[in-house]
Amino acid sequence: MKQCAECGFPARFADFFEWRGDGTIVMKQRGVLLQIALLDADELQSLFDSVSEEIGVSVDHTLVEAQRRVGKAIYAIRPIPLIDHIPHNRLTRPQWAIKAIIDRVGRDLAAIGFGVVRVQTYRAGENMSLRVENACLAPRLVGSFLGAVEVVEGVPMKADYRLDGDTLTIDVSRSDEPDTEVERFYLEQVRPAGMSLDYDRCSRCGAPLKIARMIDWDQARGRIIDRNTGHRDVMFAVQSLNALQRELEAELGASVAEIMYRAQVEISRQSPGGSPVDMRGSFWDGFFLGMALRGMGHPDSFESDEGGISVKISNAYNDTLFAARVAAACEARTGKPGELTWGDREKETVSFTVRGAA
Ligand SMILES: [Zn+2]
Repeated sequence: MKQCAECGFPARFADFFEWRGDGTIVMKQRGVLLQIALLDADELQSLFDSVSEEIGVSVDHTLVEAQRRVGKAIYAIRPIPLIDHIPHNRLTRPQWAIKAIIDRVGRDLAAIGFGVVRVQTYRAGENMSLRVENACLAPRLVGSFLGAVEVVEGVPMKADYRLDGDTLTIDVSRSDEPDTEVERFYLEQVRPAGMSLDYDRCSRCGAPLKIARMIDWDQARGRIIDRNTGHRDVMFAVQSLNALQRELEAELGASVAEIMYRAQVEISRQSPGGSPVDMRGSFWDGFFLGMALRGMGHPDSFESDEGGISVKISNAYNDTLFAARVAAACEARTGKPGELTWGDREKETVSFTVRGAA
């Protein structure tokens, strides 16, 4: 694996991602901007599990669907490498070319921490079987491949999958159901960077040094390990997280946001600070810097006192989950459960206040 000679950061990462000074990470390939956040894989899985438990139905299917559509939208604007070089007629397509394309998609997924992908069997236009070693967040992976295979084949496909330990097997096959696009699935525009945080950056590759030191990227196993927590991280598309929330809200009503909020507070309660950062500024300066380095966004402004904090933010990775993390941190600071009050949520900039309950 090629590493930056200066800071040791994986060269592929530095090529893929840009840590912007406004607390977002964008994937910058081919001029297309996608917003990405570096998230704890177990936390994310716990969040989905908690929501499933609370609403009494597994959200896995919705997660597959959200990721499939996000994946297709991504491939529509960021074409899959090699796809222009193979015949358009399915019947005359060489199998090796399709395999090469899916292998390429798999390498991208390994690079963002989702495990190592191998194509097992393939019949053009009919089916494809894939195996992922060291898999995590299975529905997200299944959705990605379903989207990719649909783009390659140009017909609706469906997927069955099973998880055996951390080995995921995905069988994608031709679907007779016509694809009904739902308008809720869209990619939010990545907002232009407003503020600019002063990261210490590598002079050679531009990666923030804190991230370069924090991440251990195991390319051979498709894993990203956070050296601070020892946990596994993944690079998760912000758009698919938000598409998932919109889809659940459409199916189950606005109470989904409240359920996600409570689940994230509970998860963050167990690790309130996220990754430790240096304490040059106040607690909240350090807290928000830690969030920013993970691409979760950064407040435009905030005001805090002993009892709580008010935040204005326009680029949170997810408004609900961002507020929940702040509430858990407020609780850790004040020793009292954080009470959330939303201010303006209609405009691009949202505001909220969290105070330790009296
Ligand atoms: Zn570097």
